[in-house]
Amino acid sequence: MSNSVFIITIDGPTASGKGTLASKIAAKMGFDYMDTGALYRGVAKTALDQGLDPSIADDAIKAAKLLHKQYDLSLQDDPAIRTEAVSKGASEVAAVQAVRDILLDLQKNFSKHGQTDEACVGVVMEGRDIGTVICPDADVKFFIDANADVRAKRRFKQLHDKGVDADYDEILKQLHIRDGRDIGRSIAPTVPADNAVILETSKMDAKQVLETALKIIVSKYTPQY
Ligand code: C5P
Repeated sequence: MSNSVFIITIDGPTASGKGTLASKIAAKMGFDYMDTGALYRGVAKTALDQGLDPSIADDAIKAAKLLHKQYDLSLQDDPAIRTEAVSKGASEVAAVQAVRDILLDLQKNFSKHGQTDEACVGVVMEGRDIGTVICPDADVKFFIDANADVRAKRRFKQLHDKGVDADYDEILKQLHIRDGRDIGRSIAPTVPADNAVILETSKMDAKQVLETALKIIVSKYTPQY
């Protein structure tokens, strides 16, 4: 279980708050951060931009190859990958094993070296299968969960705060559809790793979740000077 780069994995269903938690942990610890959902979103967006259909496996594979060639970590900060159409396409392309295989080395490399080879002491990797498939030997694994109603409310507030006109019932409906696809699929389903710490956050706010996670991390992390 000892990696030269300290690896924290954060998995969980859609709108569980794992993204907020992962980026805050990375900032607090001074670790590099990869949002692996952005890779699948990037594939879906590439497909849509190229006039391909993310729900067709061959099209998804073509888009994954293109994305792999031009991938840059800054993709995860691009608001264009957060649209409803891209979200839907992302959960479709993510169910294609060949797409997952194409994106594997980008994720494995990041887990070993971070953003740059130099001075990376730790990484935070967020996704669905990071603790199970990508980094089974991670130092700390979290699975962030919350009930569907709470997750839909969080997503609604997030959109509302950004000034985006959103319909709560539609958000809840889409969330159930995406959960069905992500949790029910046979390929890399969204399930906790055996040794993951499960944080059920329905009754917690973001600050409490962060404090709980940091206590666990600090108890296992020895800084190397
Ligand atoms: O987490 P996010 O909503 O950005 O993920 C977008 C889609 O990518 C999800 O629907 C999920 O199916 C997929 N995904 C995945 N494996 C990951 C990260 C995301 O299958 N490691």
